Amino acid sequence: MTENLMNLRPMRFRKNLRSWYLKNRRILPWRKTKDPYHIWVSEVMLQQTRVETVIPYYQKFLQHFPTVKKLAEAKEDQVLAQWQGLGYYRRARHLHQAAKELQSTYRGTLPRHSKELKKLKGFGPYTSAAVASIAFGEAVASVDGNVSRVISRLFTTDKNIESYAQEILDPVHPSDFNQAMMELGATLCLPKIPKCQVCPVSQDCQAKKQKKWHLYPRKKTKKPSKVLWDHVCFLYHRRSDSFVARQRGQDDRWAKMWECPGIESETQHTAPLELKDFLSSHIQFKRELSPLAIFTHKLTHQDHHVHVYATEVKKKEIPSSFGQWIAVKERHNFAMSRLQQKVIYLSLNELLDSSQ
Ligand code: SF4
Repeated sequence: MTENLMNLRPMRFRKNLRSWYLKNRRILPWRKTKDPYHIWVSEVMLQQTRVETVIPYYQKFLQHFPTVKKLAEAKEDQVLAQWQGLGYYRRARHLHQAAKELQSTYRGTLPRHSKELKKLKGFGPYTSAAVASIAFGEAVASVDGNVSRVISRLFTTDKNIESYAQEILDPVHPSDFNQAMMELGATLCLPKIPKCQVCPVSQDCQAKKQKKWHLYPRKKTKKPSKVLWDHVCFLYHRRSDSFVARQRGQDDRWAKMWECPGIESETQHTAPLELKDFLSSHIQFKRELSPLAIFTHKLTHQDHHVHVYATEVKKKEIPSSFGQWIAVKERHNFAMSRLQQKVIYLSLNELLDSSQ
């Protein structure tokens, strides 16, 4: 045990944390279930996404795929369509792949131990510990970003966070303990200004004692975002109220999702020309193609400057290499990123407005 841990009294810490949690926890849909599959889905959705955003997705997703078997049997497109708007689509693909593994190897049930869970696609140390402790009561600490911040402040350190978490874990109530630590990080031990005056474990917190909470966890230098220029064209057929979209390839952030035809470029000036060349070999434009909207779409490590073009076309002008026709009212069945959803929304507004 480290000297700092000696200053923390584990029994008192666990007791104070748990009684605060049992009185103050938020009522969340995944806290009303012990179904390991439902808990797993919630843990995957909650990674890098706020609780309020996750709730409707969680409910909708489980209506469509109430069991591991249903998820395993679904097509990837159907899974992505239920995930669209939540972002970080790799999570959905991994969830789907792991469901297939579970169905074929474990008859649709989740293994009870974190070591076994870790062998499945998408189960990192956090997810396997969270599912094993919350659903099966295994005494293993799960450390997400919120918990890591709490530990860092409790011990005024940036090192060995997982070991500290495991040492202070309540072996009798590991599920409550892990959820309480997450809840503490999400509601009181906030990144900018923690609410130490109402914190149930302030007696055991080094950062509070030393008035150093603002120094922990130490800030990491942020990698600058990559800048990309997207020139996207919404090709619309009015009579059938449909537009052209194509499916992306296998190997990028938006793999297998649907998009309007366009060009993505790392240089600012070449993309519009490339797009015009690409389109004008097939389409006769009545007037100069110019962007109807420009917006910036920020992702974790990328800034997309999006130029939106929209034009009405005749169906026979569009070769199959451009993509397929999708009815506007059916578009929610095709998984699209938020960026693409915005392109469609802006284009439809513009085209329908200009015809009035
Ligand atoms: S006392 Fe303050 S800094 Fe320490 S764990 Fe509680 S909220 Fe965080």
